[in-house]
Amino acid sequence: MKCARCDSENYIKNGIVLDRQRYCCLACNYNYTTNIKRGYPTEIKRKAIDLAIAGYNHRAIGRLLSVSNVTVAKWVRQHSNADYPSYVPQLT
Ligand SMILES: [Zn+2]
Repeated sequence: MKCARCDSENYIKNGIVLDRQRYCCLACNYNYTTNIKRGYPTEIKRKAIDLAIAGYNHRAIGRLLSVSNVTVAKWVRQHSNADYPSYVPQLT
């Protein structure tokens, strides 16, 4: 894990903020956290997976949810490994 500002790997734990571990960089004193939430909300993902299972193709799902079909394909692949082991994603 590296400092978001200076790439130093010297840090100390500096408390928990919003359920995330906060670190303090010893090189530049910058406070940063891990597990920063990025990307789309879980509901959108879940909806995409449900639609995929219902038989929609990735492009259709992408149009419905305003995400790229590549992103949809990625989610479906992730979830086919995790939550839906029996579901085999279609390749478009
Ligand atoms: Zn730093």
